[in-house]
Amino acid sequence: MTLNKFALGDTIGIIGGGQLGKMMAQSAQRMGFKVAVLDPDERCPARFVAHHFVHAPYNDIAGLKTLSRYSDVITYEFENINAEALEVIAKENHVPQGFETVNILQNRLSEKEAIARSGATVVPYKRIEGPADVDDAVREIGLPLVLKTVFGGYDGKGQLVVAEKAQLEEAYNMADGTILVAEKRIALDREISITASRNLQGEVVYFPVQENVHRNQILFSTMVKHAHEYTEAAIAEVEKIIHKIHFVGTFTVEFFIDKEGKLYVNEIAPRPHNSGHYSIEACDYSQFDTHILSVLGYRLPKQIKLHSSAVMYNLLGQDLDLMEHLFPEHPEWHVHVYGKEARKENRKMGHITLLLGDDTDTYYPIYKELMK
Ligand code: ADP
Ligand code: MG
Repeated sequence: MTLNKFALGDTIGIIGGGQLGKMMAQSAQRMGFKVAVLDPDERCPARFVAHHFVHAPYNDIAGLKTLSRYSDVITYEFENINAEALEVIAKENHVPQGFETVNILQNRLSEKEAIARSGATVVPYKRIEGPADVDDAVREIGLPLVLKTVFGGYDGKGQLVVAEKAQLEEAYNMADGTILVAEKRIALDREISITASRNLQGEVVYFPVQENVHRNQILFSTMVKHAHEYTEAAIAEVEKIIHKIHFVGTFTVEFFIDKEGKLYVNEIAPRPHNSGHYSIEACDYSQFDTHILSVLGYRLPKQIKLHSSAVMYNLLGQDLDLMEHLFPEHPEWHVHVYGKEARKENRKMGHITLLLGDDTDTYYPIYKELMK
């Protein structure tokens, strides 16, 4: 791939105008670049921080071509875009991330197969093509199982936990006419993730290991400290994966840790990730900064400096209702509100980051209390 040279004032096109697109755009603009955004929602968060807006579905070739006309380089904020549409655009435009990685990772089965082939550890899983395969999965893997749709799931959507035989009927129904992944449901001790960026030259830089707590399968909080006992093990897994899957830009690998302390790769997001948001305030480069540097073909910092241990809490619709009146009293809460029009239950509306210094215990319980 040729390395384009970018000049200040050049335009970065972003497919998708949600919060990730917005924070990418803010980072790009701070560095002196213009931004064009494509999104089907005319009132999407990134629209109001972009120089150009293309109102079109993500897979609309004409819309993507309009975005390309504005843009010197194109990136995306999420992986559920049509890889074929991206391929068309990548032929004639500079799309440094390519389309192959999206193609592999937007399908949970090809994602797991690629991770397993890399030599990294995944939980036992099985391809499900119909109700009969569900019985095979129960026999081979045992209960409890989680069934996951292959395409389009996020925040726990498209998942069914099968804990006992009585739930099999529901599982058969889910498996009827769709391809699924069945995987062993791990007794989780903890969940962690690691965010990294890789540039076009192949330089890789890692953010600190992030400890994640989920509520109803949606990320609730991320905690980062200066040292984490799984850092080496997690990076070793990522190194295996990046030999097999080609990344440019920021990506995040999510892990499970079971009760025996064993580490499994859960899934990979080939884009900035919710568990990396703390980096905006807590690190010398945010995950959005390093994403922009990467797709531009610029050098990356040799390492990311964590200024302070930190915790990030998501603000879902119901949390914002509960918390909003407290913001004026808490200047130490770094509040981000994405600017989505409709405030809905379980919709990610914003987040808060707290820099904790040495005091990693104080805020955490207070906030937990509030969120009950
Ligand atoms: P997504 O984030 O795309 O919705 P995930 O596969 O990451 O899907 O699942 C969301 C959350 O559900 C995980 O972070 C974890 O808390 C829980 N979960 C998913 N799969 C398993 C599993 N096999 N064992 C235990 N918990 C799981
Ligand atoms: Mg996940």
